[in-house]
Amino acid sequence: MGPNVQVPRPLRAQSLHFPDAELLPGLVNCHTHLELTHLGGGAQHREPEFLKWIRRIRELKERTSPEAFYEAAVAGVRDCWARGITCIAETGSTGAVMRALRDLGGRGIVYQEVFGPDRAQCAASMLELEEAVLQLRGLATSQLVLGVSPHAPYTVSASLYEAVAAYARRERLPVAVHLGESKEETEFVRDGAGPFADALRGRGISIEPRHASPVAYLAGLGVLQRGALCIHCVQVSPADVELLREAGATVAHCPRSNSAHRHGRMPLELFRKAGVPLGIGTDSVVSVGDLDLWAEAEAAGLAAAGALRALTIEGARALGWEAEIGSLEVGKAADLLVQTVQPSNRPTVQLTVVSGRIVHQISAT
Ligand SMILES: [Zn+2]
Repeated sequence: MGPNVQVPRPLRAQSLHFPDAELLPGLVNCHTHLELTHLGGGAQHREPEFLKWIRRIRELKERTSPEAFYEAAVAGVRDCWARGITCIAETGSTGAVMRALRDLGGRGIVYQEVFGPDRAQCAASMLELEEAVLQLRGLATSQLVLGVSPHAPYTVSASLYEAVAAYARRERLPVAVHLGESKEETEFVRDGAGPFADALRGRGISIEPRHASPVAYLAGLGVLQRGALCIHCVQVSPADVELLREAGATVAHCPRSNSAHRHGRMPLELFRKAGVPLGIGTDSVVSVGDLDLWAEAEAAGLAAAGALRALTIEGARALGWEAEIGSLEVGKAADLLVQTVQPSNRPTVQLTVVSGRIVHQISAT
């Protein structure tokens, strides 16, 4: 890393020249659902009501074969690379992205999702999670980490949250949660009311009001351990932000998804002032249409250097990987992109490199 004349050139090293280009650290996407890549871009999935939308996605997932999930994951990883995204934080339930990243040589954290809104399902859900972890853990490498994700307050019972939190601590698995996303979620947790509560009661599941915000509820259950990645965090108060800071949790901000589902704006400045590590994520292409992180930064009100920092070193920090990636420095992994810039156009990514290996390149014509 350094000026051309100073960098040692090992024998037989490949030499590439980009005279009119920018060299950037690889981008970090702090929240993806790449196993759903095949469902992206279709207007038929647009559904203004959040609960109905979640149901629709669940139905579509039930109709997808393991092979199709794997293909979707591979396509999603390649799409990331073509956009200069060299690290992803994925939440998913099929393991497809863990397998795809391993097979393709990608970098990321894959949080295995677990569901179970009924207390009576807790043991069965844990068994399923432990089996999945057993299968997927062997795929981990120095650049591919397995974690766990109890999905969201309206799909996970309090006992399941506690069981997953204890398991994650015991097994040293990083944790990610969807948290503070919608007003309906707040109503569900605080009052035990609203559409999520009605739907679960309709299935014979008993729901209690917690008289607390979703953040305070999960903090009380021990879920918000150090480094826990909290996805969305739109519906948060200053006290919630303080709780997240104290816990050492980090945040994945998904501005375009929040706006597509009309959840509102997250208080970015509150998190910044509190010093909570915060990265940007696209969420799923089913919500936002594509994996354009620059558009996310723009939607977050960030520009130029602020956007670049958010998509690189701050994203790395949110995932606990700032010592390995996020900036071009001696001693860090060679995760980088080369792009050419045309006025009034989005830059064209010419080359993407993960850990010193070319994973995407536009051939010179
Ligand atoms: Zn999500």
